[in-house]
Amino acid sequence: MNTSITWEGKFDAAHHIPGHNKCGVVHGHTYRVRIRVEGTVQEDGMIVDFHELKDIVREYDHRDLNTIISQNPPTAENLSRLIALKVLSIGLHISRAVVRVHEGGDSYAESELVRT
Ligand SMILES: [Zn+2]
Repeated sequence: MNTSITWEGKFDAAHHIPGHNKCGVVHGHTYRVRIRVEGTVQEDGMIVDFHELKDIVREYDHRDLNTIISQNPPTAENLSRLIALKVLSIGLHISRAVVRVHEGGDSYAESELVRT
């Protein structure tokens, strides 16, 4: 049986998109993140402790994303891919991770990663 959990949170960070006419200058966002995790419930009654998801996102808080993430440029798309990869790497019992990253405003990027 597959069960899912969802965690939502925020972090503040700076970034820039090199060469972009508007986003090429360093600026900040309050990023909103939604992480949905599907998998098998473990003996402790959890798929993943919510704190583990919070910790993944917390490492970006009050940082310059251009200096700490390997998938550059640090767009919402690349951030959602990176977070989804980290969620799936928590354990083999996790079958799917769906991560939304809002940079603010009405738009977001979403990455879905399924263990095959
Ligand atoms: Zn930006």
